[in-house]
Amino acid sequence: MSEQRATVLHNPYELVIDGDERPAASDETMAVYDPATDFALTEVAVATEDDVSAAVDAAADALEEWRRTPGKERARILHRFADAIREDSERLARIESLENGKPLSAARGQVRRCARHFEYYGGIADKLQGESIPLDESHVDYTIREPLGVTGHIVPWNVPIYLFGRSVAPAMAAGNTAVVKPAEETPLGAVELGRLAREVGLPDGVLNVVPGTGTEAGAALSGHPAVDSVTFTGSGPVGTEVAKNAAEHVSTVHLELGGKSPNVVFPDANLDHAVAETMKGIFTNAGQVCSAGSRLLVHEAVHDEFVDELAARTAELTLGPGVDDPDIGPLVSAHHHESVVEYLDVGREEVGEPVVGGGVPDRAGNFVEPTVFDGVTNDMRIAREEIFGPVLSVIEFADEAEAYEIANDSPYGLVAGVFTENVGRAHRFAREVDAGQIYVNEWFAGGNETPFGGFKASGVGRENGVQAVDNYTQIKNVCLNVARR
Ligand code: NAD
Repeated sequence: MSEQRATVLHNPYELVIDGDERPAASDETMAVYDPATDFALTEVAVATEDDVSAAVDAAADALEEWRRTPGKERARILHRFADAIREDSERLARIESLENGKPLSAARGQVRRCARHFEYYGGIADKLQGESIPLDESHVDYTIREPLGVTGHIVPWNVPIYLFGRSVAPAMAAGNTAVVKPAEETPLGAVELGRLAREVGLPDGVLNVVPGTGTEAGAALSGHPAVDSVTFTGSGPVGTEVAKNAAEHVSTVHLELGGKSPNVVFPDANLDHAVAETMKGIFTNAGQVCSAGSRLLVHEAVHDEFVDELAARTAELTLGPGVDDPDIGPLVSAHHHESVVEYLDVGREEVGEPVVGGGVPDRAGNFVEPTVFDGVTNDMRIAREEIFGPVLSVIEFADEAEAYEIANDSPYGLVAGVFTENVGRAHRFAREVDAGQIYVNEWFAGGNETPFGGFKASGVGRENGVQAVDNYTQIKNVCLNVARR
């Protein structure tokens, strides 16, 4: 074990249930791998259905006290949690970088944003007000916002610490208790957060973490009759399964799924800036981002110049283990690597050689060169399917109407970006394009405070911003007859 790993990792990692760290009921563990070397980093307990039930029971037992805890007290605890995450941020970032492979500086940013979730929703915990509804002289009517109960959170591997905070923080702020099922590839950050929450005085059972497989622990959580809400972030087919499972016991479901987001560059854009933002949009996290700008639509008047510059700068990017803080780290797993490499073959069949990249470096780990395919048409697989790797498809367009048509011709509708100096065109783009979030002259614009979620096959519901709290509250209406004496 290298010194880097030895200083930050425990062995083994366990489940966090009811404030206790414990092995799985079966005693089973699985290895967590370093995607830069494919060597095992450590072991983690594999939750069984019984463990998930124990976690849900603990969350249900903790609910009565937590939902009645005054909002201002819940706020204080969430703020303490945010502070603790910030204090421990360097260690947490190293763990995320080791288990996911992402560059250390990106992991640091994700940990900061996780802390910000708890700070932001801590600020909302004591402001969950209802409204009064005017009826007539005989009645007084008002609403109360109540928590849903036990919330389940199924998290993917691509930005695990950030996504943990994104759904758990608003749920806990609103008085719900939580059970989190992290991805098989990246369970360590979630267990670390469960442990930290205990240290800042979160009552036992309010936050439980059950690493395990999707097919056992994930399915047990989404199908558990005592789970009142399931937030799933991941792929479309699994999201559909989760929704079906949750429907069996009439639980609320929020789905944050994939994307094939259009990044549209008009000739009046600042092209130098647009190239840099295009690279950020597709190569951040080695392209393993739901909101990646994976379809680049470039106007024909600037296409050649733009693609030449993009290819030249892409060729300069450095690859390496995340903890060495390169531009691009490895893909998360050998399995996912195989899938992305298959898409490189699909791209070659559909358009020929890429203008840059397309190779697999001759080294250990799950590396793929950042790749740009030009001459793509929107009916090709590399334009329609989510590759979830550092692979960009470039499509040329002739005018604004065609750009909107191509942008909207996708099963997905997560985000869309436009580069233009024409303010009218920017607003037209925002009106015409079907996506949950529109970026103008900056990819990944917005943040924890701005609502995020998908149109079409990209999902159901919104995360981030004050809107996310609506996911985790239900409205009770109270109507009094005040005329009776
Ligand atoms: P995935 O669907 O394979 O897994 C996601 C989670 O679901 C994991 O924790 C997994 O263990 C669990 N799971 C697997 N099978 C399950 C089952 N039958 N029942 C319950 N849970 C199960 O997705 P992935 O490959 O880990 O993540 C990549 C996908 O996530 C991409 O499509 C990406 O676009 C999407 N994503 C979306 C957002 C968003 O906010 N919209 C954010 C990040 C990732």
